[in-house]
Amino acid sequence: MAAESTPTTNGPATTVPAKRPFPDFSEAPAANANESTEQRAKRLAALLSTPVKDGLTAEELMNPQLSGGLTYNDFLILPGYVDFPASICSLESRITKRFTLKTPFLSSPMDTVTETQMAIHMALNGGLGVIHHNCPVEEQADMVRKVKKFENGFITDPKCLGPEHTVQDVFNIKQQYGFCGIPITENGKLHSKLLGIVTSRDIDFLQTLEDRQRLLKDVMTTDLVTAPQGVSLFEANTILKASKKGKLPIVDGQGRLTALLARSDLVKARDYPWASKMPSSKQLLVAAAISTHDEDRVRLQALVDAGLDIVVLDSSQGNSSFQIEMIKYIKQTHPHIDVIAGNVVTQEQARRLIEAGADALRVGMGSGSICITQEVMACGRPQGTAVFRVSQFARQFGVPVIADGGIGNVGHIVKALALGASAVMMGSLLAGTSESPGEYYYHEGQRLKKYRGMGSIDAMEKGDAAGKRYFSEADKIKVAQGVAGAVVDKGSVKKFLGYLATGVQHSLQDIGTRTLVDLRDAVVNGEVRFEKRTASAQLEGGVHGLHSYEKRLFS
Ligand code: GDP
Ligand code: GDP
Ligand code: 5GP
Repeated sequence: MAAESTPTTNGPATTVPAKRPFPDFSEAPAANANESTEQRAKRLAALLSTPVKDGLTAEELMNPQLSGGLTYNDFLILPGYVDFPASICSLESRITKRFTLKTPFLSSPMDTVTETQMAIHMALNGGLGVIHHNCPVEEQADMVRKVKKFENGFITDPKCLGPEHTVQDVFNIKQQYGFCGIPITENGKLHSKLLGIVTSRDIDFLQTLEDRQRLLKDVMTTDLVTAPQGVSLFEANTILKASKKGKLPIVDGQGRLTALLARSDLVKARDYPWASKMPSSKQLLVAAAISTHDEDRVRLQALVDAGLDIVVLDSSQGNSSFQIEMIKYIKQTHPHIDVIAGNVVTQEQARRLIEAGADALRVGMGSGSICITQEVMACGRPQGTAVFRVSQFARQFGVPVIADGGIGNVGHIVKALALGASAVMMGSLLAGTSESPGEYYYHEGQRLKKYRGMGSIDAMEKGDAAGKRYFSEADKIKVAQGVAGAVVDKGSVKKFLGYLATGVQHSLQDIGTRTLVDLRDAVVNGEVRFEKRTASAQLEGGVHGLHSYEKRLFS
């Protein structure tokens, strides 16, 4: 290398490198002995302006001759180019033909994962809860109803009472439904003349037996702020805010009550801007599972009456005449309900369900954390391959895929989405949160919650839904396809989903794609690249070589 010597004021001379041209390719090998310096510079500049295809496309990664079936841990996504902050990455995803969510997260229809509280909080935080069916019809319908009632724009069927009803009647409503802001109308019903309103402040201190017999006409507030029928939700909200009251009754020209607005709904809308809601009613979205048995047509009707938006056909092997009949029946009788069909892991299974009219497919067989299907039935498919193959087929028909089971961390979520899934369904990850059913208990110093497979003997003994999912209800001997266990406390689902969403945003940034749609497109057209991970690469990718450590995932 050329250099100049410069004397310094004291001590020996230092060496200063000579100025070089930019870009400097002087160290690069020539293509051949005849290549001039200019030719070399031109050739290398051209090389640098062309994107380099390192690693494999998803199709190459999944080549069955080379790979066999892959799980999420068997590969990595190669990093791309970052020129945007993670916070702008959009996680919006279409999860059925009609419904799009702000975050691609669903909770499993399992009796240790999704009941009312989980479904409410999944929807409030931009995901979707699928209520399990390992319970009597009325219990499941009641859970759906509670989710639908939790948040509203205009409450179009508010509970009303009349002037001759008593304070006790208000307490009864509060106990059954949880609210006690009750409009009082002439005949105690909607569409009758509004006389006043009773709220918690009117009855808080009326606790004695005598107080509870008092008539509502004597305790109600009559000095009301109302809004006229026909007012927009935006205008009504403005009036409600300005009034500083808890409720805003909406009345027609004759002063008859037609709807109600609650201030607490404005607070919920402010606090949960990502909430999954119906655009018109502002009610939270809710899904519920049913089996493919004929008698569940009655269950479905009860769920639809309770306000169901999406039904999940809960079957471990979805490619059956029973499921195809059920999809066709639902499409004929309840065309406004979207059907998530499954489970499937092959393109042939997917073909039949899409042909029958499925609005989305649930993918996974034997990949769940509590699952022993592959061990016992010898059927199933590694989840990475299953998600990729089914998504590849379903994409042609615009049918979204939900990757169900085997999600153990944020990386698994991103890999499922990169392989073509529109959303992930999680059981074990959400089971230990405060919104999952069941009580916490301590074992060897750890705070745990029970988590069990719906095909475990434990679950099958509790209800008959588990048996129906695994086709064994008529068997004399129940063959388990799942186990019962426990998971550690993960705190509130609000914080945990926030961690998952932020984690996925950071991952999208590393990959260099700004939205989930961009990610899927970039995988299909070969821009996003993959690499297989050997067993030792998997060890290297985890924490290793430490004497001990604490794994805190978020703060
Ligand atoms: P738009 O579609 O752009 O008009 O906006 P939105 O439908 O999101 O909201 C219309 C109005 O309803 C705005 O004033 C929102 O703040 C308000 N809003 C959004 N969600 C709720 C809700 O759950 N309850 C109530 N009462 N208002 C809501
Ligand atoms: P309240 O003051 O006890 O009535 O309770 P809040 O106003 O704090 O909350 C009532 C919640 O229940 C809101 O989210 C409403 O949208 C919801 N809700 C659903 N149906 C009804 C109903 O018929 N009446 C009332 N008051 N609230 C309802
Ligand atoms: P996880 O998120 O815990 O890995 O998996 C949850 C998923 O496992 C559920 O959504 C469901 O598809 C599946 N699953 C639930 N219970 C059972 C079971 O007992 N056996 C099998 N094979 N799968 C189950």
